[in-house]
Amino acid sequence: MKYDFIIAGSGCSGLSLLYKILQTPSLQNKSILVIDKDQKKNNDRTWCFWEKNPGSFESIVHARWNTLEFISDNLKKKVDLGPYTYKMIQGIDFYNFVFKYAKKFKNVIFLQDSITDIDSKFNEALVITRKNTYSAKYVFNSTNFFNPKINKQNSLLQHFKGWNIRTVDPVFNSKVGRLMDFSISQENGTTFMYVLPSSSTEALVEYTLFSPSTLKQETYVRELKKYIKEVLKIKKYTIEHEEFGIIPMSLAKFKQNPKMNVINIGTSGGYTKASSGYTFQFIQKNVFEIVENLKKGNTPVQNLSFKNKIYRWYDRTLINVLLTKKMTGKEVFTIMFKKNSAQNILAFLGNESTIIEDISIMKNFPKIPFLIAGIKSLK
Ligand SMILES: Cc1cc2nc3c(=O)[nH]c(=O)nc-3n(C[C@H](O)[C@H](O)[C@H](O)COP(=O)(O)OP(=O)(O)OC[C@H]3O[C@@H](n4cnc5c(N)ncnc54)[C@H](O)[C@@H]3O)c2cc1C
Repeated sequence: MKYDFIIAGSGCSGLSLLYKILQTPSLQNKSILVIDKDQKKNNDRTWCFWEKNPGSFESIVHARWNTLEFISDNLKKKVDLGPYTYKMIQGIDFYNFVFKYAKKFKNVIFLQDSITDIDSKFNEALVITRKNTYSAKYVFNSTNFFNPKINKQNSLLQHFKGWNIRTVDPVFNSKVGRLMDFSISQENGTTFMYVLPSSSTEALVEYTLFSPSTLKQETYVRELKKYIKEVLKIKKYTIEHEEFGIIPMSLAKFKQNPKMNVINIGTSGGYTKASSGYTFQFIQKNVFEIVENLKKGNTPVQNLSFKNKIYRWYDRTLINVLLTKKMTGKEVFTIMFKKNSAQNILAFLGNESTIIEDISIMKNFPKIPFLIAGIKSLK
């Protein structure tokens, strides 16, 4: 049987696309095969992102903030997000939500299998698994088959360990999320703590670094314990959940359309913002574009707008500055938060700013390192 669509990988981008297709009357009856090696039954990650309006997954938002805090040397700033809300969704809630919704559709088949190759022949896209070969008009791929080589010359890694902790006493202000606290040691590269309280007794505390390589697990543990004790001044707590992640922050180019009728989505499609690691909101924008194209009967490959190409250039420029150690992440983000409103920063980091807003943010950075990196990044 030939399917209309195969979704290869049912993680964030695969299920976001499936949900969007199933919400679209002209597409919801298409035959769809969703393949993943994993059952997606674990709460393997937490997604945070910001948006102005209620989004597709509003009903499963676990916590939200309208004020964020930024801390660095001689700077402690609480910022009002204006029209934006910073939101958190737990992975398991997201997987369950989309699976439950998709159950209503007999035309959607879920298959648990390991994909061994993705190809295209004549007008068909093929997915080869350990057990079978499946074909479709289009394959939407979020496995890493076509990913570029990541190495220390072209990439930094964003690596982090996060604990969801519960305290005995009410110690957190759940109205304020701590986006970045740079007041900790920078000996291993750009390093900050991220503290997102979802109630007065619960918070996600995450030790995050942008650096060429990961650390020993005991280092993340030691730093988390130290911060909770010495900075948050919490003596009694339990660790309810733990997450560990590595996100590429790369100059390498991720292909959007590696083979005929094969469309890369998610991180594999280049939708992880290289300068920050945020992906969730860019996935939502990309699946919206894909569905708009399919509705019109066009190829689903998203043509990057001129502005989006500019954002990718900005991202590459910042990665270049960090990779060549012209400035540290702490210096760059401190300048950004010292001089600009949160609304402008979030618009800029969310690829939603105007050129005038971009200039007002960039004019504060030292000219020479950014100019050199900017020219190098034009390639
Ligand atoms: C712990 C963690 C926390 C994160 N937090 C945030 C955040 O707060 N905000 C944000 O914007 N981004 C965050 N990210 C980054 C990004 O949003 C996630 O990595 C996101 O899941 C990327 O979506 P994706 O669809 O590209 O990949 P995934 O969600 O990883 O989906 C890929 C799927 O493909 C499947 N697969 C892979 N290979 C095969 C194969 N050979 N055969 C069959 N199936 C296969 C996998 O099992 C997986 O289900 C985080 C990442 C991690 C790891």
